Amino acid sequence: MKRNAAYDLNALRREFPILDREVYGHPLVYLDSAASAQKPRVVIEAQREYEAHFHSNIHRGVHTLATQATEAYEGVRSKLTEHINAARREEIIFTSGTTDSINLVAGTWGRANLNSGDVVALTRLEHHSNIVPWQILAKEKGFDIVVIEIDEDGSLCEESLKAALSRSPKLLCVSHVSNTLGTVNDVTRITAQAHEVGAVVLVDGAQAVPHKKIDVRDIGCDFYAASGHKMYGPSGVGFLYGKAELLEEMPPWKGGGEMIQTVSFEEETTFNVPPYKFEAGTPHLSGVIGLGAALDWINSVGLDKIAEHEEALIKYASERLSEIEGMRLIGTSKDKASVVSFLVDGTHPSDIGTILDQLGVAVRTGHHCTEPIMNKLGIPGTVRASFAAYSTFEEVDALVAGVERAVKMLR
Ligand code: PMP
Repeated sequence: MKRNAAYDLNALRREFPILDREVYGHPLVYLDSAASAQKPRVVIEAQREYEAHFHSNIHRGVHTLATQATEAYEGVRSKLTEHINAARREEIIFTSGTTDSINLVAGTWGRANLNSGDVVALTRLEHHSNIVPWQILAKEKGFDIVVIEIDEDGSLCEESLKAALSRSPKLLCVSHVSNTLGTVNDVTRITAQAHEVGAVVLVDGAQAVPHKKIDVRDIGCDFYAASGHKMYGPSGVGFLYGKAELLEEMPPWKGGGEMIQTVSFEEETTFNVPPYKFEAGTPHLSGVIGLGAALDWINSVGLDKIAEHEEALIKYASERLSEIEGMRLIGTSKDKASVVSFLVDGTHPSDIGTILDQLGVAVRTGHHCTEPIMNKLGIPGTVRASFAAYSTFEEVDALVAGVERAVKMLR
């Protein structure tokens, strides 16, 4: 059933300049927001304004521009602290994105704490960026990786979770929302269960932050990672939340400017306090400023309203797509966010994606950087439509019409 968004959808869409463009003579139907969301004008303008009027390197300068740039950059850290309800602003580290954040945890906490004989638990739902850093480190350190399996509908298998926890993992990594199946994991409960057996918990929040209110203290996790470009912000910027007591103990990762206290050839080099200890070199300054504008924009619309609209879109898309003969929805867990993945009998996902593109409909096809899910389900990939605050029911209709046409052409 089509339900009006709890905000003025047409007015909201006008804030996104890219949504005006055409592809192959058709109005763009952008259903690939899980890969990267589009940016409202305020984000684009905030970056431009920064570059045009107060760009300077931060922290180190005494001049006016350096002070203004530093204040703007650190202001976003405070904003993000509040946005995810972290206890202290020192718990927010700016990174280049989720991948970078997870590699930071692997390269510091992981390298310092994981050894031969230890166990790390990963779910089968993880994006490659929450698998490969652990595999690389496991090769070096000799610890075991245990996989928490999924059920047919794409939800986490409770038995498998129990079995993994019975091995007392030192670390459990779980995505908050699966980018391929849309499964929303109950990370608050999973964190509590993992803490009971002494595991540190890392939550990959890349697909959750654009769709849900995140409260890291309510979740209780030790680390939470996300990317700016999935939350209406710039690419090349993201963050890692880490509990202060863990960050304080962690050794540095990348070495360079800003992460040191003193550097000497004669005495031992000493390091800065978190978060600066983990922010070596000049960061993506305009990216962080743009991320701040994205947070303001999200809050001006309201995450609850965005979530409600997207939920209605998922429901409508699932119902409409199911009317197509041979349709197989992949990922049907009860609690889903943002994405609808599917296959149609007798067709290949990439062929459907190519035909949809010619009709102006942008979807993603393939394994979505989650090959272990594809292996488990025995499929080559899926077609994935993903939604954001600006997505419309008419766009779902265009998707369905496009898939119907593609199927006719391909069968
Ligand atoms: N985790 C999940 C669940 C994702 O969807 C993605 C991006 N597709 C990533 C991690 C990696 O994010 P990034 O490329 O921004 O580092």
